[in-house]
Amino acid sequence: MRHNFGAGPCILPQEVFKQASAAVLDFKDGLSILEISHRSPEFDAVVAETLKLVKELLNVPSGYSVLLLQGGASLQFSMVPQNLLPEGGTAAYLDSGVWASKAIKEVKHFGKANVVASSKEANYTFIPKDYVIPADSAYFHYTSNNTIYGTELFELPVTKVPVVCDMSSDIMSREIDVTKYDLIYAGAQKNIGPAGLTVVIIKDEILGKTDRSIPSMLDYKSHIDGGSMYNTPPVFSIYTAMLNLRWLKSKGGVAQMEKENIAKANALYAEIDRNTLFKGTCAVEDRSRMNICFVMEDPELEKPFAKYADENGFEGLKGHRSVGGFRASMYNALPITSVHALIDLMQSFEEKHKK
Ligand SMILES: *Cc1c(COP(=O)(O)O)cnc(C)c1O
Repeated sequence: MRHNFGAGPCILPQEVFKQASAAVLDFKDGLSILEISHRSPEFDAVVAETLKLVKELLNVPSGYSVLLLQGGASLQFSMVPQNLLPEGGTAAYLDSGVWASKAIKEVKHFGKANVVASSKEANYTFIPKDYVIPADSAYFHYTSNNTIYGTELFELPVTKVPVVCDMSSDIMSREIDVTKYDLIYAGAQKNIGPAGLTVVIIKDEILGKTDRSIPSMLDYKSHIDGGSMYNTPPVFSIYTAMLNLRWLKSKGGVAQMEKENIAKANALYAEIDRNTLFKGTCAVEDRSRMNICFVMEDPELEKPFAKYADENGFEGLKGHRSVGGFRASMYNALPITSVHALIDLMQSFEEKHKK
């Protein structure tokens, strides 16, 4: 089997793939999960368990709703200002990468984005610090893990304004304190399940503060009232996400994942720093545990290393075009044995090419 370091849609546990495929053939009395009614009691139970697992795994307190939506994290870029930004209001945004800047771009349809800091000039190789979030901002938006550039923000900025976070690529990878957030969103395909599902966790009291008229499908309230079943939900994505969250819980939950993710990331960064052929691309203090970006001291060796990796069963290591080099995405389901295999590969390549 190939070692899957792809950035997304991501690796999921083999047992999840087995269970999901079994349900395609027979979910209930010979009926496929793909053909049952989303209003059936059996599917109601799937939605209920998925919501319960999200709440349980992240310790979501009362006063928050969990929503299972569609449209990806990208739809949240506009749903957030549409629902939270009053007419003529301003929201504060931290520009730490391409996804953050795409979120910023959507605000203009509804009001103003105040970019409090940006590391764009440095090709997003670090997370900006020492910025001020004006107290009259409608909310503060940031991206906790910059999937493309391999930086991660572990400490939540201190502010009194509502905090909105795009957690697409590090949700469920480490413990968080949900009470510090007002809205969290994540496209499922990085760490929760397959593509097609977006998870939103929202503090109920922040809604209903704009006078804007919002189409039902884009209004968080319709989805809260409809119990994430305002319209036909992405049935199979939800089912598979539920299986993956069950797996996560059985493995010891988010706290255990965090331990493993720290071990995996430390091992690979140690090799990148030790190996004479490779170097990391980001500020050391901002290094992501989920997406580890590195290049070669000699760019001429990048093609041969990519080929060597491919021949030896490694998948998805190519860096995003805006960074180049390599990116090892190490989501929850990636076993540490794959990380050790990558380290061995880097060492054997070094042996061959040592000057
Ligand atoms: C992948 C990603 C997105 C985009 O997600 P879609 O579900 O494809 O819209 C947004 N933000 C972050 C941090 C991502 O990693």
